[in-house]
Formats: sequence, C-alpha cells, structure tokens
Amino acid sequence: MTDQQINLFDYDRQSLRALFEEMGERAFRADQIIKWLHGRGVTDIDQMTDLSKSLRSKLKEISVIKLPEVVQSQHSLDGTRKWLLKLEDGNCIETVFIPTKTHGTVCVSSQVGCALNCSFCSTGKQGYNRNLSTGEIIAQLWFAHHSLKEETGLDHPVTNVVMMGMGEPLLNMDNVLPAMNLMLDDFAFNLSKYRVTLSTSGVLPKMRELAEKSDVSLAVSLHAPNDELRNILVPINKKYPISQLMDVCRAYFKDEPKRSITFEYVMLDGVNDKPEHARQLIEILQGIPSKINLIPFNPFPHAPYKRSTEVSISKFQRQLMKAGFNTIVRRTRGEDIDAACGQLAGQVKDRTQRSAKWKAKHNVVIPIVKETETSNV
Ligand code: SAH
Ligand code: SF4
Repeated sequence: MTDQQINLFDYDRQSLRALFEEMGERAFRADQIIKWLHGRGVTDIDQMTDLSKSLRSKLKEISVIKLPEVVQSQHSLDGTRKWLLKLEDGNCIETVFIPTKTHGTVCVSSQVGCALNCSFCSTGKQGYNRNLSTGEIIAQLWFAHHSLKEETGLDHPVTNVVMMGMGEPLLNMDNVLPAMNLMLDDFAFNLSKYRVTLSTSGVLPKMRELAEKSDVSLAVSLHAPNDELRNILVPINKKYPISQLMDVCRAYFKDEPKRSITFEYVMLDGVNDKPEHARQLIEILQGIPSKINLIPFNPFPHAPYKRSTEVSISKFQRQLMKAGFNTIVRRTRGEDIDAACGQLAGQVKDRTQRSAKWKAKHNVVIPIVKETETSNV
C-alpha cells in the first residue's frame, strides 16, 4: 500500500459515494462495491464482475483492501468463539461471538486498550494505545460473519452486534460511526438498529452527538448508584456525574418513546450489591425507560474485586424487578477462553506509563500470542 492508496474497508456507503463523485465516477458504483466487499465477502477487485474493466484497474491503482490477520481462534465449551486479530502495527485485538438458541452476537472492540481506567476492567488496566480505524472495526464483524456463514451454511449467523469489546467507542466516534453505518446498511450487514448496541461509560457530549447522528441502541455502563462509588469504579464520573448522565439518558430516545436504554451494572461482592444500592438505583432511574443488565464480575489476575454471590445477585434482581424494572442477569459465557465481559485483553503494544506501572506493581505477565489455531472443544 502506498501513501496515496486508500483502504476500501475504511469507507461506508455514503463516504464511498462521495469519493466516487469526486473521481468523476457514478455514485451507484460505490453501492456495488459495498455489496461485494461486505455483503458477499469478496475482497478481490477482479471478481467484482459488474464493474467495468477500466474502473477495476483504476480501483487497483488508488486503493487496497486491507484486513487484519487472524492469528488465533479459540472455541469455548459453551460455543463461544474468540478470534485474536493482528493489526498492521503489531497490536492485537480480540473479537468474540456468543451464540444462543435464537441469536448470534458479536462483541466488537473500538480501541486498542482504553484510557478510562475503570477499576474492575482488564482492558482499562492495560492503558490506551490507539483508536481503531473504521476498517479495523468492521473487519471484526466481517470475519465473524463470513467465516461463520461458510462454516454453518446459515445466511445470517450474526444477528446482533454489541460495541462492548475493548475501548470506549464514543472516544473514537469518527471511526465508529461509519463502521456502525455498515452494520446497518442493507448492502452490507443489514442488521436492525435494535440489534446493534453501543455501550458507553458515559462520555456525555459524545452521547448527545450520537443521538443526533445514529439510531443504534444504547447501553450505559452505570455500575454504581451514587457519585461517591461511581467515581471509584468508573473514574470518568468525576467529569460527568450521575445527575448529568441521567439527564442525557432521559432525553436520549425522546422522539421514540418505545425505545429504552440498557443500563449495565457489574456485580462486585460487598461493593455495589447491597439492598441500599438497589434502592438508590431505583431512585436515579425514575422516568428513564430502562432495562437493567446485571453482570456478575469476571475476574482477571490481580483484580481488586470478587464476584457477588448468587444469593445477593438474585436478591438485587428481585428488588429491581419489584420496582418495575426489566432486569436480567447476563450469564457469563466463554470464561474458559477468557472471552467474558471485561476479560478481553488483546496484545497492546506501547502501553501508557500508568499501565506499565500498574503491571510492574502487580507483576503481570502478558501471554505470548500463539500463531497456531487452538481449540478447547
Ligand atoms: N467502554 C465501554 C464498552 C466496553 S466495556 C463501556 O464501558 O461501556 C463493555 C462492558 O463490560 C461494560 O459494561 C463494562 O463495564 C463491562 N465490564 C468491564 N470489565 C468487566 C468485568 N471484569 N466483569 C464484568 N463486566 C465488565
Ligand atoms: Fe474502558 Fe469500558 Fe473498560 Fe471502562 S469498562 S476501562 S470505559 S473498556
């Protein structure tokens, strides 16, 4: 790839149409290319037979089709899959596929590492390296969709996408938005807006922007019902406290009263799982159409927390349900391959000082990437 060449994976339909118009080409050519690349999974320009020969050679001059390399693929005993993808700069990211009887969900990363340093999150503990490009974000779904399609013979093996992998998606809006456009695009992955969910720890100005620019579903990582506790668990709360976060949530789907926001709440033993926390939660969520997802904490080496007991999780759930909140406990999947929520680590090169200090203090060893395919089945 030369400096002048673009990666076709970095474009959604709208931006590719604009590029073609600039080049003096008909905009609908962009639609055809999106269909080949994402809809059909064809990455060889010569196979795009409804494009003229001259357009194909022009495309080969100005563009490349660049995908990360799959360096490891793991199967969990419960059917969960995890792929380790190696990026051009040597960083690696992880993508997870979680099948149930009726759904297939892909969990997509938006950054290498994360700068927000939530105290219960393994990704946060690694520090931040960089944003993923649009191509690197959509490639995760591309791999999952096309490889599972071939393997299972199903037309739509992936029914849902959650932006709940590594990183804070709203701190990488410029690349996340076009990737999500492709997820919804009927020429690409054709997923419903109810089935593509962006999860955020509450970057308020960006949440307002998201409400204007996209209609994907929203999940908010709440995890604590008061500022004192949330400041510790989700440090960005010091900048954007709960009352402001709730105001933005209240306004979020105001034009679509049937939609609701999913609030994620990690269950940490003795920290945020007591009846008084449930009471406070019920209070702050008043007036917001909400679903609550309780996530039993997934441990990682040297984590400072323990998972809440089953008894306290079901008590907490019952208390919220009694108050009228649709509350589910998100069952842990893929634990045997470290694919559960908050366990995604990837391989982050050049981490920040903070994370280097943290690792030195806790004597953390980064596992070496295996270049072979492994399976736990
Ligand atoms: N940065 C975004 C999206 C990625 S995190 C966010 O914070 O929302 C996706 C979800 O996994 C979040 O709700 C996050 O709080 C949760 N999570 C992180 N670490 C976890 C852990 N160790 N156990 C359980 N859930 C965790
Ligand atoms: Fe970042 Fe989300 Fe992890 Fe917090 S929970 S450190 S925002 S990835």
